[in-house]
Amino acid sequence: MFQSKFFAKTLRDIPKEAITKNHQLLLKGCYINQLISGVWTLNPLGLRVLKKIESIIREEINNIGGQEIFMPALQPRELWGRSGRWEKMDPPLFKFKDRHDKWLTLGSTHEEVVTDLAAQYVKSYKDLPLALYQIQNKFRNEMRSSGGLLRVREFVMKDLYSFHINKEDLDQYYEKAKQAYLEIYKRCSLKVIPVEASSGTIGGNCSHEFMVLSGSGEDKIAVCEKCNWGANSEILKGKYFCPHCGRELQAASSIEAGHIFKLGAIYSEKMGLSFMDADGKQKPVIMGCYGIGVGRLMAIIVECLSDEKGIVWPKSVAPFDVHLLCLDTKDKDINKKTTEIYNNLIEAGFDVLFDDRDESASVKLKDADLIGIPTRLVISQKTGNKVEYKERANSKIELLSADEISQKLKREA
Ligand SMILES: [Zn+2]
Repeated sequence: MFQSKFFAKTLRDIPKEAITKNHQLLLKGCYINQLISGVWTLNPLGLRVLKKIESIIREEINNIGGQEIFMPALQPRELWGRSGRWEKMDPPLFKFKDRHDKWLTLGSTHEEVVTDLAAQYVKSYKDLPLALYQIQNKFRNEMRSSGGLLRVREFVMKDLYSFHINKEDLDQYYEKAKQAYLEIYKRCSLKVIPVEASSGTIGGNCSHEFMVLSGSGEDKIAVCEKCNWGANSEILKGKYFCPHCGRELQAASSIEAGHIFKLGAIYSEKMGLSFMDADGKQKPVIMGCYGIGVGRLMAIIVECLSDEKGIVWPKSVAPFDVHLLCLDTKDKDINKKTTEIYNNLIEAGFDVLFDDRDESASVKLKDADLIGIPTRLVISQKTGNKVEYKERANSKIELLSADEISQKLKREA
């Protein structure tokens, strides 16, 4: 991609209300653009990252037997009446009437729709277990939206729902889902602490939140600084010690990066999802649900992986593999050499952003640090026959030949 034609204009000045790192850096780097409070456009850079995160999530959820579907955002009041949540949801639902005077909502979650869907197909124990998921837009009528992509009113979420013949089968799957979640965070270079949590208006009797330690976090958890074991901060009302190593737990700011629930039979009983068991008896289906906000994960990665100059994307989710900077675009030879290297990298399968803009070296270097692509290559009159190689995550600069560059990139891909 030629940066001179790329839909990305970095900003030097951003609004004062941008306090969190993800808000500041994603805005400055032209990853996102705000339409109204808590409602964001993903520009090409932002969408590239989101799609990378989505595909990591998709792979891990497919690995535990999830089957992808796509449910509508538009949902009838009638379904929410059956679950009893039309009035109860917190944050509240967006509600409005269609031209036939029927109440509708833009779903903030899909337990109602998916339970109703499963009820139309699941009849026997032979149809279970079943795991359905989607990556789809959700809507929340938040009182205040702030913090960039951390607290929003419309967002992309992966929501997985599992259906089982009994509690033991749910317990087993829940553990698998927990492991899949840990794998997702690991692949995004995030350290999370699973913490037992309250189930809120989703319901059920057991749930875990995956917390990332971060100064900008709104939540407090109790954490052991030695072994990273964590618990709900409610226990901090007294002195509490880590069950693994005996250290006293400390309060720490954290951000929720995902939430999983054992729902049990609460939705299936209310909404008529039952099956005929092997013993010939009709029983309610036992359910679990598992959510990750995809844009939120992107925000959390920025909160955790950035420095004073900008974002430091892990390779797994970076918008491009390589940022190729030509610092002397007016020099024909340099330009030709850079274009050759660009073409070779593209041919070798790398995703390259080629800064061919008519801008000063300092603007280009600043933008490269801000945007945060993992590998930066610089070609200028100064680099002569060589190419300057630098990784965003460290300060080491090497001068390498074009061949050495492609070998090094291939090794590290
Ligand atoms: Zn400990």
